[in-house]
Amino acid sequence: MDVTTQPHLVGWELTRACQLRCRHCRAQAITERHGDELSLEQIAGVLDHMAAAFSHPPILIFTGGDPLERPDLPDIIAAARERGFLVALAPSATPKLTPQVVREWAAIGVHAISLSLDGATAQVHDRFRGVRGTFDRTLALAHAVVESGVNLQINTSVCMQTVRDLAPIGDMVEELGVSSWEVFFVVPTGRARTAAWPLGPESQELALHWLVGYRRRAAFRVTAVGAPQLWRIVHQTRADGDAHRRPAIRDGQGFAFIDHVGNVFPSGYLPLAAGNVLETDFAGIYREAPLFQALRDPEKLRGKCHICPFRFVCGGSRARAYAVTGDPLAQDPACPYIPPPLETPPPSPAVDAAPAPVGPLG
Ligand code: SF4
Repeated sequence: MDVTTQPHLVGWELTRACQLRCRHCRAQAITERHGDELSLEQIAGVLDHMAAAFSHPPILIFTGGDPLERPDLPDIIAAARERGFLVALAPSATPKLTPQVVREWAAIGVHAISLSLDGATAQVHDRFRGVRGTFDRTLALAHAVVESGVNLQINTSVCMQTVRDLAPIGDMVEELGVSSWEVFFVVPTGRARTAAWPLGPESQELALHWLVGYRRRAAFRVTAVGAPQLWRIVHQTRADGDAHRRPAIRDGQGFAFIDHVGNVFPSGYLPLAAGNVLETDFAGIYREAPLFQALRDPEKLRGKCHICPFRFVCGGSRARAYAVTGDPLAQDPACPYIPPPLETPPPSPAVDAAPAPVGPLG
């Protein structure tokens, strides 16, 4: 699939309402729904457009906030399924999410459900999620998802508060019978700016090396979010060496994010809107917005990412670069890798280059 013309995955924040109080919440979710959330009719219109624009319909990940805060969620799922989209859901583990709800989602063709597990004990997980009882509920729901026949994905947020639990969570994930484990390396955006403590470069590198080893043993899909250096380490540690040219799916490249009022972002962790689906068609934003085009061009990266031999498979977290430096094309500050010097210097001053504007966006 050509990721310059169509995304493989679209994260869609249906609402920012949520009853949990997670320390790292990107959306800075609140308990009430926003009055300007996209309506079912508006969502159906965007789905019509996407179905017509893309030869391979992207997988839709309905998220929030908590998508269960929308009473019309079953209608939204049905609208997507009728138009041929695979639907994944990322609900919050609140009392609203019961095994019966999981079975109903299975009956209307939901492809995957992701649940978050950020600690190997209730003490660590519940403190991170801000509500007591969330850990036990998550484990019960995980079993319910597997029993329903829907693919179970576990998401784990890694930061200073949770990284010690990474290996024991890995053991739990194996026992749960998951289809996929996504390990999110916390980006300092939203509530994570103050309430979660992202890993530094050395700690993140150690965690990623561990994850690469785990991934090689696992019988299910394992990947990292917010840390595309995983693919650099995969290539550095594989016996047959080079495969530097396969582009990774990352912010704006194979992935896009629609927020609750229709703004389109390269990622939920990169709060630079490139347009709005109520004003511009989604495919046009994805294909033509200057921000998206810049993020898909490894030659536009700055600093050491610009000269790195792994920029095609990694390229650094654009969300973290923006969160830390204000420039989405800057080198990823969480990467300790030092690229070898080029035989010929890069065409522009690579390191210390002043950030060039990427906007206006959309
Ligand atoms: S220098 Fe940049 S492109 Fe290279 S591995 Fe690090 S983050 Fe990735």
